[in-house]
Amino acid sequence: MLPDTLGGAGQTAFARHTVTSSESPSAIKRLGQNFLIDPNIVRKILAVAELRRHDAVLEIGPGRGILTEALCHVSDRVTAIELDPRLHAHLLERHADTPNLTLVLGDAMTHSLEGLPIGTIVVANLPYYISTPLLFRLLEQRDRFPRLVLMLQDEVADRLIAKPGSRDYGVLSVLAQYVTEVTKAFKVSAHCFRPRPEVGSAVVVLRMKQARELSPEEEPMFTRLVKAAFAHRRKTLVNSLKDEGYDVQVVLEALRTCALEPVVRAETLPVGQFVELSRRVTLPRQHAE
Ligand code: SAM
Repeated sequence: MLPDTLGGAGQTAFARHTVTSSESPSAIKRLGQNFLIDPNIVRKILAVAELRRHDAVLEIGPGRGILTEALCHVSDRVTAIELDPRLHAHLLERHADTPNLTLVLGDAMTHSLEGLPIGTIVVANLPYYISTPLLFRLLEQRDRFPRLVLMLQDEVADRLIAKPGSRDYGVLSVLAQYVTEVTKAFKVSAHCFRPRPEVGSAVVVLRMKQARELSPEEEPMFTRLVKAAFAHRRKTLVNSLKDEGYDVQVVLEALRTCALEPVVRAETLPVGQFVELSRRVTLPRQHAE
C-alpha cells in the first residue's frame, strides 16, 4: 500500500517503475533518489558518526541500503524509514535475516518519531527535495536525537555553518546554531552517486546543545522574530520587522537596550543577540491575539 502522503502523482510514478523486489529498483528523481555508490564515503560517514554498539540509530531514506547495511554492522538497533514501497520491499527481502534492523514504510515528514528511543543518533543521506523541512523536524525532537549526521546539499551545509556577516547567514543558520553545534565534516563529489545529483553534497554533524537559553514558551517567539528579521534582506532589521507587523518603537527600544544601532541589519547579528532581542520584542499584534 502507498503512504497517504504521496497522492495520485506518487502512485503514477511508482506504477511506471514497478519491478520485482529482488531487482535493485530504478531511481525516481522526484523522490530525491541519488544513491550512494562509493563505499569510501560510507566509511567516512560512519567515522564521523562515532556510533557505539548500543546506540539506537535512525536512517531516513535507506534507498538501496548501502548505508543501512554498514549501520547494521556497528549498531544493535537500526530503524530505517523509506517512502518508496519498491525500495522498502527490496530491503525487506535483502535483510530478512538482519534482526537489528527495523524497516518502516512511511513518510519521514509525518511518521511518528515518538516511538524511537531517547538518545537515537540520526545518520542519513537525506532526500534533497525536503532536506530543510526534514532537518527542522529533527531539530524539534532535540531530546530524542542528540546527534544528527546528515548528507545534504553543499549549499545547505554552508548555510547551516554560516557566521554573521557572510552571504550564507540567514534563518537556517540562526535557528540551527541556536539548538546545535554544527560542523561541516566533508564534501562529497557528485561522482559518488547514481544517478549523479545536479548539486554538490556535504556531510554535516549537528550536536544538540544541552542548555537552552530560552524557555519552551519563549522559543516560538524567537523563531518568528528570526524569520521576520530575514524576510526582507535588503532592509534594515527595524524596517524588516515593521513590514512583518512588529511595533517600530518596541523594536527600537529593544535595540537600544541591547546596545545595537537602529540601522543594524539581520545578517550581522550573532545568534545570542537574536536571543536577547526576542526577550525584549513582543509579538506583532495579529499573532499575539
Ligand atoms: N540512503 C540511500 C543512499 O545513501 O544511497 C538513499 C539516499 S537517497 C538520497 C534518499 C532516499 O530517501 C531515497 O531512497 C528516497 O526514496 C527516500 N525518501 C524520499 N522522500 C522520503 C520521505 N519523505 N520519507 C522517507 N524517505 C524518503
